[in-house]
Amino acid sequence: MSCVACGAEVPAAAYCGACGAQWAQPPAAGRDRLRMGAYAAAPGEQVLRLSVASSLFPHLPHRSRTAFRAGLAAIFLLLVVLAVMRWQAPMIAVIALGLPLVFVLYLYQADVDRDYALRALVPTALLGVGLGVGWALATSTLISGFYDVSLADADSRRMALIVGIAVPAGGALLMLVPAVVMRFARPTRESLDGFVIGSLGAISFTAAATIIRLAPQFATGVTSDNQPAGVLLVQAGVQGVAVPLTAASMGGLVGAALWFARRGLVLSSVLATLAVYSVLGITEVSPVLEGLHLGAHLMIAVIALLALRIGLQYCLLNEEHDVPNPGGQVLCPYCDHVVPDMAFCSNCGVAAAAASRASRTARRAGVGSGIEVPRPGYATPARMYDVVPVGYTRQGWLLTTLAAGVGVVVAAGITASVLATPARPRYTCPPDCGRPPIGQPIDINPRFVSTDGEFSVQYPGEGTFYKATLYSDWVALEYFGGDTGTLDLWGEPAEKRSPKQIVDQMIAEYYPDATLDYEIPNAMVGYEPGYGAVHDQYPQDSSGEFTRLRVITLCAVKNDYALVASAVGPFHEFTPDYGTGHPSAANLALALDMGKYVNSFRWRSGA
Ligand SMILES: [Zn+2]
Ligand SMILES: [Zn+2]
Repeated sequence: MSCVACGAEVPAAAYCGACGAQWAQPPAAGRDRLRMGAYAAAPGEQVLRLSVASSLFPHLPHRSRTAFRAGLAAIFLLLVVLAVMRWQAPMIAVIALGLPLVFVLYLYQADVDRDYALRALVPTALLGVGLGVGWALATSTLISGFYDVSLADADSRRMALIVGIAVPAGGALLMLVPAVVMRFARPTRESLDGFVIGSLGAISFTAAATIIRLAPQFATGVTSDNQPAGVLLVQAGVQGVAVPLTAASMGGLVGAALWFARRGLVLSSVLATLAVYSVLGITEVSPVLEGLHLGAHLMIAVIALLALRIGLQYCLLNEEHDVPNPGGQVLCPYCDHVVPDMAFCSNCGVAAAAASRASRTARRAGVGSGIEVPRPGYATPARMYDVVPVGYTRQGWLLTTLAAGVGVVVAAGITASVLATPARPRYTCPPDCGRPPIGQPIDINPRFVSTDGEFSVQYPGEGTFYKATLYSDWVALEYFGGDTGTLDLWGEPAEKRSPKQIVDQMIAEYYPDATLDYEIPNAMVGYEPGYGAVHDQYPQDSSGEFTRLRVITLCAVKNDYALVASAVGPFHEFTPDYGTGHPSAANLALALDMGKYVNSFRWRSGA
């Protein structure tokens, strides 16, 4: 028969073996370049179907996908369990290396490793890891430096927005570098080769960056008793599921486009990647979306997966196919029928190039060799064919191998954490009874008076570890001694609110994700009884930065005018040698110093 779409003479069948057109739904005119109803790497799937196994593992024989779905589900379940149990060290290890493990097993099971051998895969992975480590190290201080800026410092806050968007976008470009390098170093012809290289490079980059960024969390213990399980669940969902899926998809898409070698496709796939990561950055820094991180990340991962499917579909349908054995027959690994050896399976429409070259070679040799099992033919002389069956991945094997891999990864995570966690401080009193927690105001410090005269407060002057910025009713102090941090001292009309309401409102506005650690007993501001609270904030930007910030807020109200002090900085556990010398739970370097300024607050005299 002659195909209506491409005009080639092909056997009558469900799909044209030459161009892949679906004869039941022939295109109106010319070739249907996307064939949205039938995905070219999995039988019986729409192109826009949300399937991780057939999107990220196109080379797999169809029967193997069940095992890989089970493997992905096992990793996912494990992450949930570890997060709920708050076993953070093993969780971080699985977050970083879970998907990469499954991907490596995929390369092995689909014989992709035999297509390239180590000469292409290893350099790609190493390059990705190297770039990921470098990028994470280069940007981590940049990011955390922007989190503890003064609440009054609008410029820094604006700058933080720009950094929050630019860092993920820059990382996205860098994660594509291994694919670009390999494109020139080891050019092959098939776009799925590009997918493998691009995906592997991006996965390696992301895994390395994640480990570097989450490493500080190892030092806070094997288990995390002071982080709510919800925070860990979000972290597992974002860093362990959404981030690696997005990276694998966008890296694979750009890789396939590079190998397909059409400038327009390369450009649009790179722009799509930039867009995806910029949107990620925007959702992270926009306060409206606080608390919706996980949702936004998962949405973007879904979009990335679908973009990858459309890209692979386009490449598989439109690239040049070589058919070394015209007139021969071959076993299709996707529908398990013996079909004419052409560019597309006549029965299920899956592209021959979806399978690895090693698999194609093996199956061509296996037809008619008179051994093994009978398989039905399709669009071939009607009889059973004896063929070497396609080896597929058994669920038991995959889960066992994966469990072994995960076991090693988890053990490494726990070991790293045990080594990195400092021993719990032990206080014995005496001698570790500490100094009084309240510092005395020191009169040599300059005193700030608000423009409207409502209050005054001392602040550290020249020659201290602070840089002071004075506003009309606000003193912003940037602390650069040892740990960084910011101390804000300000006054505002209380408008009938209690000190607790004012603090809660301030936290809701500036640190909506923060969790209350404890309320400070007998909190005082300017020797006036008030309210104080210690909050924890775990900022997580799209690139996975982990910083535990401590926010200490004190507030007192007199004559309906509130004076507030708020200190924010990195969590730093107090020990007998470091801190107030007594078992304080403040755990923030600034807290050692803030007392004397807080107590120097004065309301308008005579008020
Ligand atoms: Zn055709
Ligand atoms: Zn087939």
